[in-house]
Amino acid sequence: PSPLGPTPKLVIDLERLQQLPKDKAGPLARYAATIQSQRGDYNGKVLSIRQEDLRSLAVIYDKSPADLTEELISWGVLDPEARRAVEAF
Ligand code: C2E
Ligand code: C2E
Ligand code: C2E
Repeated sequence: PSPLGPTPKLVIDLERLQQLPKDKAGPLARYAATIQSQRGDYNGKVLSIRQEDLRSLAVIYDKSPADLTEELISWGVLDPEARRAVEAF
C-alpha cells in the first residue's frame, strides 16, 4: 500500500466547470452531463468519475491522460491530488 494512502478519486468540480469558456470546457461539460444523466445525479457540486472515463476524455482532447490531468488541474476543475490517480494508470 502507498504511504500516501489509497488512490484518490477523480472528482470534477462542476461549479468551476460552468465558469470556464465553452471552447475549452465544452467537451468535458457534455461528458459530465451525460454521466449525471445516466446516474440520475443532478444536484451535486462535484462529480466522481471513473478512471476509464479520463482515458476517454484524453482521446477527446487529443492529449495523454497525464497532460489532460495537468490541464484540468490548471483550470481548477480537478484537485492536484488527481495526479496520483493518473500515475496508477
Ligand atoms: P453499470 O456500469 O452497469 O452500473 C450499474 C450500477 O452499478 C450503477 O448504477 C451503480 O449503482 C453501480 N456502479 C457501477 N460502477 C460503480 C462504481 O465504480 N462506483 C459506484 N459507487 N457504483 C458503481 P448507476 O449509477 O445508476 O449508473 C447506471 C449506468 O450509467 C451504469 O451502468 C453505466 O452504464 C452508466 N454510468 C454511470 N456512471 C458512469 C460513469 O462514471 N462512467 C461511465 N462510463 N458510465 C457511467
Ligand atoms: P467522498 O467520496 O469523499 O465524497 C464527499 C462528498 O462529495 C459526498 O458526500 C458528496 O457530497 C460529494 N460527491 C463526491 N462525488 C460525488 C458525485 O459523483 N456526485 C455527487 N452528487 N456528489 C459527490 P456524501 O454523498 O455525503 O458521501 C460521503 C462519503 O460516503 C463519500 O466521501 C464516500 O466516502 C462515501 N460514499 C458516498 N457515495 C459513495 C459511493 O458511491 N461509493 C463509495 N465507495 N463511497 C461512497
Ligand atoms: P467508488 O464507488 O469508491 O469505487 C472505487 C472503484 O471501485 C471504482 O473506480 C471501480 O474500480 C471499483 N468499483 C466500485 N463499484 C464497482 C462496480 O459496481 N463494478 C465494477 N466493475 N467496479 C466497481 P472507478 O471506476 O475509477 O470509479 C471511481 C468513482 O467514480 C467511484 O468510486 C464512484 O464514486 C464513481 N463512479 C464510477 N462509476 C459509477 C457509476 O456507475 N455510478 C455511480 N453512482 N458512481 C460511479
